[in-house]
Amino acid sequence: MIELSGPVLPGATIGVLGSGQLGRMFAIAARQLGYRVHTFSPAYDTPTGQVADLEVCQPYEDLEAVRSFAASVDVMSFEFENVPAATAAAAAEVAPVRPAGSLLETTQHRLREKTALRERGFTTTEFVAVRSVDELRDGLRRLGGAGLLKTAGWGYDGKGQRRVRSVDEAAAAWAELATDEAILEGFVDFERELSVVVARGADGELVTYGPVENHHVDGILDVTLSPAPVDDGLAEQARALARRIAESFELVGVLCAELFVTRDRRLLVNELAPRPHNSGHLTIDACLTSQFEQQVRAVCGLPLGAPTQLRPAAMVNLLGDLWADGEPDWQAALRSSPALKLHLYGKGEPRPGRKMGHLVALASTVEEAREIALRGRQALQRSSAR
Ligand code: AMP
Repeated sequence: MIELSGPVLPGATIGVLGSGQLGRMFAIAARQLGYRVHTFSPAYDTPTGQVADLEVCQPYEDLEAVRSFAASVDVMSFEFENVPAATAAAAAEVAPVRPAGSLLETTQHRLREKTALRERGFTTTEFVAVRSVDELRDGLRRLGGAGLLKTAGWGYDGKGQRRVRSVDEAAAAWAELATDEAILEGFVDFERELSVVVARGADGELVTYGPVENHHVDGILDVTLSPAPVDDGLAEQARALARRIAESFELVGVLCAELFVTRDRRLLVNELAPRPHNSGHLTIDACLTSQFEQQVRAVCGLPLGAPTQLRPAAMVNLLGDLWADGEPDWQAALRSSPALKLHLYGKGEPRPGRKMGHLVALASTVEEAREIALRGRQALQRSSAR
């Protein structure tokens, strides 16, 4: 594995494995700081490729192509969590990769991730490993007869998940998930969902954003409110938890800890993402330093920036469903408030459930920001329903 001996300074080239919207916003931040950006993924004309200096289109499994890509950059990161471990390892033979591929490998598999968290003393949801319908029945009995069954790998945005309400549903649930390895989690009747984005530099410097409050619809993030309307004690607990996680996994880069607040006000770790996160998108408009700029700084070994939030903010996601009746009415949304910021990811095909962009509103209170953001999205929808 290649390690960096010093900082990678502006003017150098950063490689990104993956080519979605996270890479796009990362590339925009990197270019603002004067870096060049190369992106590697199996697709062309991608959200990242559209703003990168170079878009390489090759399968992740082509390790020779990965090595030659790595040879063209000074440091590498990833924006796509499901990059195969072998791909990250091949890249690391040639260029420094931050965060380390081992963290990627841990977090892309729900069983490995929850086990690693437990081993380090962090509290997660109750879970059992499930590799057959019999193990699912046993697991359901252990968890009180019900739970949430999720594929162990390749899960995101609520995909590969199914609620199981009784042992009688086990056979149908197992068949529906069509996997050979899954995790059964206890269903958490949470009070709210929070997340904390944490950035950690190579020298151990740490900054946090949030906690923010997240609302999901069908397992997909819908609305984020920042700061989360929780008391200072709970907010500090959430930040401290994220800092401990970043230290314990020796993070160099950005990580998001998704948390459940239980009704008795305990914090459970739901999931980790070793990269900028959808719930941190509002940091572009609302904070002195965005989560993406922080990722650039951490990966390149620059000092981190202040994460200070300038105004209360809300973000709403724009999914492909909004395109059902044609192009959404961007004019109407922007007219609805001058405090609204529109971000679109340059994706050609607006499929239902696909993240196409987001809106951010800044205001004097979080509640007001939420109303402006929702009204903006409504303006898009109203026009698309005409
Ligand atoms: P995930 O992909 O695991 O982050 O799940 C997406 C969303 O589903 C979460 O943000 C929660 O809203 C919900 N969810 C996931 N796991 C659980 C659980 N064990 N109990 C209750 N809700 C959950």
